[in-house]
Amino acid sequence: MPELPEVETIRRSLEPVVVGRTVCSVDVRCASLRKPVPPGLAQRVTGRRIAATGRRAKYLLIEMDDGLMWIFHMGMSGRLQHFPAAAGEARAKHDHLVVLLDDDSTLVFNDPRRFGLVLLEDGTTKSVFADYGPEPLDRAGFHGDYLAGFRSRTNRTIKDVLMDQRIVAGLGNIYVNEILFLAGVRPRRRLRRVTGAECERIVDATRTIIEEAIEHRGSSVSDFLDGIGRRGGYQWRHRVYGREGEPCPNCGASIRAIVVGQRSSFYCSGCQR
Ligand SMILES: [Zn+2]
Repeated sequence: MPELPEVETIRRSLEPVVVGRTVCSVDVRCASLRKPVPPGLAQRVTGRRIAATGRRAKYLLIEMDDGLMWIFHMGMSGRLQHFPAAAGEARAKHDHLVVLLDDDSTLVFNDPRRFGLVLLEDGTTKSVFADYGPEPLDRAGFHGDYLAGFRSRTNRTIKDVLMDQRIVAGLGNIYVNEILFLAGVRPRRRLRRVTGAECERIVDATRTIIEEAIEHRGSSVSDFLDGIGRRGGYQWRHRVYGREGEPCPNCGASIRAIVVGQRSSFYCSGCQR
């Protein structure tokens, strides 16, 4: 599932090719995603210009010139990709939404497993982000004291806490494994047993890992591609994720795999306490 760095990579790849373009038509070929595609979506965006792109947590945002926010979540297998005019009309299986732009290019949402989401927000209803926590790169919102403040309020593991979008928004299984390795904290530790100094280290590690991953354009572990069809490069730099049995990059001990919160977790018993 694309996490913050992958969605940010999609955003950066789409921005130069879609901002300023006007939507000529929207063909909704399949409306039954995780939630139904909003009825009337095509009428509401057709004829409007794309003013900006954005991202919140793992959601990609397309802001229209009338303030309407068009929101995409990739779910497990979703892909939002731009095709230049020369790409023609060939359509792939699972192309659920095909947006024709005024330069004859297309923006296509494809999602074989259909766990993705396409939403519209105009500010009149409760936002999908209403209960979301701060962004990991937001220094004012996400800091050591903030994370430590949850210690007395939960019995959950540090891994579960970092995956909780209400506490910090945008992290998923890959990056939480990498963050906890860099911070030297085992994924199964209860947050209430994590010290204040370790909370600081976890926050610092979060920034380091997320910034590195964006710089390397995300991780293509399964089939992630950015908005113009390029693979990411961060999968080659994972320190522990998916590396069970391989030597730890720090100490050489064998990386272990366990299950925490029904998700695979990877850690080094030498480097993480
Ligand atoms: Zn190690």
